Amino acid sequence: MLLEGKVALVTGSSRGIGRAIALAMVKEGCQVAVNYLGSEEKAKSLCEEIGQLGGKAIPFRADVSRWDEAKTMVDGVLSSFGKVDILVNNAGITKDNLLLRMSQEDWEEVIRINLSGVYNCTKLLLKPMIKQRQGRIINITSVSGITGNPGQSNYAAAKAGLIGFTKSIAKEVASRDILVNGIAPGFIATDMTEALVQAEQEKLLSAIPLGRMGSPEDIANVAVFLASEKAGYITGQIITVDGGLTM
Ligand code: NAD
Repeated sequence: MLLEGKVALVTGSSRGIGRAIALAMVKEGCQVAVNYLGSEEKAKSLCEEIGQLGGKAIPFRADVSRWDEAKTMVDGVLSSFGKVDILVNNAGITKDNLLLRMSQEDWEEVIRINLSGVYNCTKLLLKPMIKQRQGRIINITSVSGITGNPGQSNYAAAKAGLIGFTKSIAKEVASRDILVNGIAPGFIATDMTEALVQAEQEKLLSAIPLGRMGSPEDIANVAVFLASEKAGYITGQIITVDGGLTM
């Protein structure tokens, strides 16, 4: 198994891409801290499912964009599991609108959760990772942060910021054997894209060379790879997983 004996914290993992990452990591022998915000039931049922697979997972409620909540969560994860080898910064939201109609609240909330949430969790776990002289940080950014997307200036700015953050931290901690990479998904079938898909499915699919939406598992497979020894010489990279959308 690729992640035997490892411990991962996956933010926003009660559903969607985060959930798929948690499950895929468990199947490779990893123990997982399942962070959630509102969906306690879903987080608990995921942990039960993982238990039935013979793995170990514990749910932790925290709004990652709030320093105190993120700190309480990280302290709890460290005391429950003893360490964190892999941090997956997955929690994210969209509040789409054209800039002319975008409220300051929607601008700030998207930046706060998608970007400051990553600052909080990464900063809190960096010291323990430096102490243990190894770690993997995987940031879930987006193709929107690479190409831009009308109606997503807040989200694209946060995700582009996350790419710069990923590369900067990768350079800061490479000498400590902490590898920091990002995954930029294209259109993945989750709750986040459901409304969009119903409205524009045909147009959307015709723009994707592989002709289909991605699945959360398509992203999870890459996260497992980046967390594993097989990716030991990769840092500061953003891997696009988009069915060819942005090639
Ligand atoms: P999703 O909405 O199903 O999942 C996002 C999760 O993050 C939810 O469980 C939500 O509760 C959690 N979350 C939101 N704010 C939080 C907070 N403040 N603290 C803790 N948890 C919080 O969406 P998804 O598609 O699974 O998205 C996962 C990640 O992938 C996001 O960062 C998203 O931006 C990114 N992404 C998704 C797509 C896509 O097409 N679905 C494309 C590119 C990037």
